[in-house]
Amino acid sequence: MSRIVVLGGSFGGLTAAFELKRLLGKKADVTVVSGDDRFVFLPSLPWLIMGWRKPEDITLRVSEILKPKGIEFVHDAAKQIDADSSKVITSKGKELPYDHLVISTGPYLSFDEIPGLGPDKGHTDCTFTLDHALRTGESWKKIL
Ligand SMILES: Cc1cc2nc3c(=O)[nH]c(=O)nc-3n(C[C@H](O)[C@H](O)[C@H](O)COP(=O)(O)OP(=O)(O)OC[C@H]3O[C@@H](n4cnc5c(N)ncnc54)[C@H](O)[C@@H]3O)c2cc1C
Repeated sequence: MSRIVVLGGSFGGLTAAFELKRLLGKKADVTVVSGDDRFVFLPSLPWLIMGWRKPEDITLRVSEILKPKGIEFVHDAAKQIDADSSKVITSKGKELPYDHLVISTGPYLSFDEIPGLGPDKGHTDCTFTLDHALRTGESWKKIL
């Protein structure tokens, strides 16, 4: 049986995991690894900011949607890929050997590239993640 490890539990990672399991069935062990147990429907974040949606309206638990499909979930971020020995090492030190690896960890937001940018060290709001959008919603209320 082939061991397939998928890094990332969002659009890319979940689509890959569901399709691989659907097409390969018992021929493959599919494991999704993500530091976040939430799948967030990102296109609805602007509605969350406006107060038209709550986080629970646009969020699913990744562990709950994978289990019925026979896909394993590891709730932990990947820290390192050891390509020579074909294994992923997670931030909690778990080692996940693989035959095939799908990397779908999305973008890295480089707020530091521009002085003053970003919600933490800078002066701007952001709509890219659920946590950022919740804070942007608070800014919106203050403006109003
Ligand atoms: C407000 C907004 C509106 C959008 N609207 C649309 C739209 O209408 N149509 C459209 O096509 N696209 C839209 N997009 C873009 C779309 O959401 C992205 O293209 C899509 O989310 C990318 O999916 P992804 O799986 O590659 O990455 P992401 O969705 O960024 O997911 C990355 C995943 O990897 C996980 N991860 C990160 N690092 C690690 C690690 N080290 N180890 C394990 N897991 C890790 C994260 O927790 C997450 O689960 C929108 C985006 C935003 C922000």
